[in-house]
Amino acid sequence: MTIKLRNARLIDGTGAEPYLAEIVIEGQRIASVAAEGTGDGQDSDATVIDVGGATVMPGLIDAHSHPSFLPEIDLAKMGDLPVEEHTLLTARNARLMLDQGFTSMLCAASAKPRLDLVVRNEINAGNLIGPRMLVASPELTVTGGVGDVRLPHMHRQSVEHVCDGVDQFRQTTRWYMREGVDHMKLDISGDEFIPYAKGRVTTMTDEEVAATCQVAHARGKRVAAHARSAESVKMCVRHGIEIIFHADFTDEEGLDLVAENKDKHFVAPAFGFLHTSRYEAGDWGLTPEVTASMGLDEQLESLIANMIELKKRGVRVLPGGDYFVPWNPMGNNARDLEHFVNFLEFSPMEAIESATRLGGELMLQPDDLGCIKAGYLADLLVLDGDPLKDIAILQNQSTFTGIMKDGVWHKEPPLSRSGDVEKWSISGSVTGAPEPVLR
Ligand SMILES: [Zn+2]
Repeated sequence: MTIKLRNARLIDGTGAEPYLAEIVIEGQRIASVAAEGTGDGQDSDATVIDVGGATVMPGLIDAHSHPSFLPEIDLAKMGDLPVEEHTLLTARNARLMLDQGFTSMLCAASAKPRLDLVVRNEINAGNLIGPRMLVASPELTVTGGVGDVRLPHMHRQSVEHVCDGVDQFRQTTRWYMREGVDHMKLDISGDEFIPYAKGRVTTMTDEEVAATCQVAHARGKRVAAHARSAESVKMCVRHGIEIIFHADFTDEEGLDLVAENKDKHFVAPAFGFLHTSRYEAGDWGLTPEVTASMGLDEQLESLIANMIELKKRGVRVLPGGDYFVPWNPMGNNARDLEHFVNFLEFSPMEAIESATRLGGELMLQPDDLGCIKAGYLADLLVLDGDPLKDIAILQNQSTFTGIMKDGVWHKEPPLSRSGDVEKWSISGSVTGAPEPVLR
């Protein structure tokens, strides 16, 4: 089946200026992209959709998703949900992500061992609707680390997998390799939300981190880490941890190390969670007094300075903001792009490139995902509006008139919008090589 999109104001994911284009999709891939009116005339057997100058851009890619997390900060409660309800919730959240324009997501941790991975498998088999997923193990933590909510007087397990010592890390990592995760997740540092292990504390030992990395890397799998402390970020570099989450308290030495190895690492600060915890969670008890006493002001300030510096040095910094708690809910994930623009010195185009082309690299499909180019998988969005003028429109589901994954419409745009071309301020003639033609 061939689909031709005409009069598309194309943002192709590479950072190139938008231009008016026609895009031909054959099966699951993009067959050709050409300036409007210069295509090879395949209209006869194609379904032609005139999008009327609407924006067409690659599907969004989220770098830190938690489809199996409840809207809940209390990890013990999250652990208590029976696995049957929990699986259904995970599937619903995956679909919600696709509804919001995310055609791919990298999961940061599963809330039970196999939740994210069975949903991934069902989506890949075509039995469930959702984005492409790369899935993690639950967070491996140590006794007294992030998420160890066990109580001394009773047996209890929550969303984390508690390991102590090299042997337990090695065995647990082998266990998750057998189950089929795409990457391991380690909680190397503490967190301001954990009174007994704050963010500057490094909870895991070098040997424990090395054990997981050794097992995962030997099987060709990656490792992702919750790494807030300065030392934890250095451990990520030392052990070749590909995906570094947070990096709030990185020091100069850590910044240098990450920058020197920028081709090996992705950094996803998970900005949304920290921002909303500081500024928008008063109704949930996180008043300015409480967040000040937790140290969220310094944490946010440090995170912002570090991300600006890493971006300047060419490190791949990606949006994906721990959206699951009620004040930072699942589905709002595109708000991270707005945060990148407002706080981290990204232009709207850079934020989009980060969530698309760099996302394709993060998903391990740099030649398949994240750009609208001939040969790439047809994951794309049709938007009524210009995200370069207002990046926040990406958060509004009603903006999306079309969402396509793998060449199949999840949301199908109307066949003709030709009357709208003028509405979107398209002018000038378009010939030959792609040139910016919009004012
Ligand atoms: Zn997270």
